[in-house]
Amino acid sequence: MTTALRPDVRIAERAGFCYGVRLAIDKAKQAREEGKDVTTLGQLVHNQGIKADLAERGIRTADLADQVEGGTLVIRAHGVPKSEFDRVKQADGLEVIDATCTWVLQSQKAAQELAEAGYTVCIIGHEDHPEVKGVRSYAGEKHVVVDDMDRSTWERVPRTKKIGVLSQSTILPNKLEEFAAFCLRRCHDLRVVNTVCPVTLTRQDQSVKLAREVDAMVVVGGKNSSNTKELAVKCRGIQPETIHVADADELAADWADWLRGKPRIGITGGTSTPEDDLEEVRERIYVLTA
Ligand code: SF4
Repeated sequence: MTTALRPDVRIAERAGFCYGVRLAIDKAKQAREEGKDVTTLGQLVHNQGIKADLAERGIRTADLADQVEGGTLVIRAHGVPKSEFDRVKQADGLEVIDATCTWVLQSQKAAQELAEAGYTVCIIGHEDHPEVKGVRSYAGEKHVVVDDMDRSTWERVPRTKKIGVLSQSTILPNKLEEFAAFCLRRCHDLRVVNTVCPVTLTRQDQSVKLAREVDAMVVVGGKNSSNTKELAVKCRGIQPETIHVADADELAADWADWLRGKPRIGITGGTSTPEDDLEEVRERIYVLTA
């Protein structure tokens, strides 16, 4: 009987939760441990294991602030639109814990400053992403949002005197550069604020480095997590043998053939993917290739 050689499975450096997500989770847990009746506004994280853990602790999630009648409301790292923030802050009997990430707060501030200075704010990101919904609420009436993956939406950028460019924190930096160059041809005065999160950048750099060194990449994270999808696109650009799975359970027996015969396999994850999930995927790969 022959035994299959165990692949060399490496996890990218700097993978695991980003500090913004970690802080939001810690704040919610701490409030609950203090005996508060805690509800988060939207999911703190796109991760089934963490969602289950929070639910077990008695931390609820509401999609809309109107559904929360009292207790403690945690605003997640993505932030919320200004009108919603003002509303919950003024609501009677509701304590608000603002866990908006400092990087997102900086984007909101930049949007407001640009709008107040007369710039048409142009945001590159995903229109339906909560972070973008929040940032655009500070960007004045003239702002536009364009999609990084759909260039036809870039035509929304007006020909005008002053344009201010911002991006969703998880957009690939080369997309921001490309978009800024596009806007330069439509205005006289261009201001670009680099709002790509450094955590995302480092993670991407480390993942790309790993993708170059291995025969296959497994990107782990929620299927609706924007930064995980971006990471998968980036890795696939380097290593075509890249798959995106939500968790170890998705890496079922069907993938065994794909994994076998790949001596070096890399793993990375989005900002909402905890280290434990990456370790679980590593163990699953060992089982499937044994
Ligand atoms: S990815 Fe960056 S901007 Fe987004 S929550 Fe994490 S640290 Fe903050």
